[in-house]
Amino acid sequence: MKRIPRVDFPADVRPDTLAVREGLPRTAWGENSEALFLTSSFVQPDAATAAARFANEEEAFTYSRFTNPTVMMFERRLAALEGTEAAIATASGMSAILLLGLALLKAGDHVVCSQSVFGSTLVLFGREFAKFGVEVTFVPQTDVAAWRAAVRPNTKLLFAESPTNPITEICDIRALADIAHGAGALLAVDNCFCSPALQRPAALGADLIVHSGTKYLDGQGRVLAGAVCGAEALINEKFVPVMRSAGISLSPFNAWVVLKGLETLSIRMEAQSRRALELATWLEAQPNVERVYYPGLASHPQHALAMAQQGGVGGAVVSFVVRGVAPGGAAVARRNAFHVIDSTQVCSITANLGDTKTTITHPASTSHGRLTEEQRQSAGIVQGLIRVAVGLEDVRDLKADLQRGLDTLRG
Ligand SMILES: *Cc1c(COP(=O)(O)O)cnc(C)c1O
Repeated sequence: MKRIPRVDFPADVRPDTLAVREGLPRTAWGENSEALFLTSSFVQPDAATAAARFANEEEAFTYSRFTNPTVMMFERRLAALEGTEAAIATASGMSAILLLGLALLKAGDHVVCSQSVFGSTLVLFGREFAKFGVEVTFVPQTDVAAWRAAVRPNTKLLFAESPTNPITEICDIRALADIAHGAGALLAVDNCFCSPALQRPAALGADLIVHSGTKYLDGQGRVLAGAVCGAEALINEKFVPVMRSAGISLSPFNAWVVLKGLETLSIRMEAQSRRALELATWLEAQPNVERVYYPGLASHPQHALAMAQQGGVGGAVVSFVVRGVAPGGAAVARRNAFHVIDSTQVCSITANLGDTKTTITHPASTSHGRLTEEQRQSAGIVQGLIRVAVGLEDVRDLKADLQRGLDTLRG
């Protein structure tokens, strides 16, 4: 299998430089922008060479299910930004987590997972992996003692996401890494909400970093993509063979889109986070808002930890609860949340996030709609909760967009 070489930079070149320069081995044509290799297979010079290459005796491109130059450029660049030796790209964020499970777990193994991770992740670990005899214990995201207590002799993996979707709970990545390593297990962190522009879990001890490239890595809501980042030996020995057999591969076209997205990642994260902080601060002062969840606010329960882990930046996702929980209960809360969402004229009503276009969603009935009410409650997904993933619009227009509904709530 082919591995593209690292670009020969000075060793101390910084992330913003890597984001536009790493992973670009030019072809003989000398293109300045990354080439898109839309080809499913690669021609071999003769049958004997083909045999050697398919047997991994010689490095070369053979078939795009497991090796494609554009996909590898994305892997190389993402790994450089995360500060890991290697990365392996997948068709989506969920297929990255599926690959993680297929690569690391077998029947009888045990996983400790935060109970506040992305909805489909809960379903994948709690229901799908259970079919294959993998046991999972879900623990409160922020309770380090609960993580420690949940570890068993057969625990192979700790899985966390920070901040979580949608209520931005922060886990202490270094503390979880210590627990995992003390138990001979690995820590995987879903770094979707921060991206490597704000948070590098590997530097805090995480062994594997999972991405939904669909979100901030693409950054403009165009394609599905995913990746797992980690040590080269681990990726090559455990992940690549599964990818070769399972084929949850990233298409070259989608790889090219996210590869180019990485070039603007840090300036987007910075600009969108700045707007998110301003919006969150404003929301906190609104009489019809009961609670705001945003790691950049001093009122956030793990504000200090978030600032330490995320380079002092809160990220671009703000969630808030509209007034109306009592006395009408959940039904009134849901009606009020729908009213605020339906009163917007700028925001897109859609479950995606990480886009330059601000998106607004009602998690309890969309991303977390498949969960039981009990699972939703333990994840803090109440009916009055609204999630806003702040884009690049003028923040004054976003405030006006939310104010329209907040100022006209009935009961
Ligand atoms: C969206 C998301 C995923 C899943 O990614 P897809 O690309 O949609 O499969 C996983 N984790 C988090 C935190 C997400 O927001």
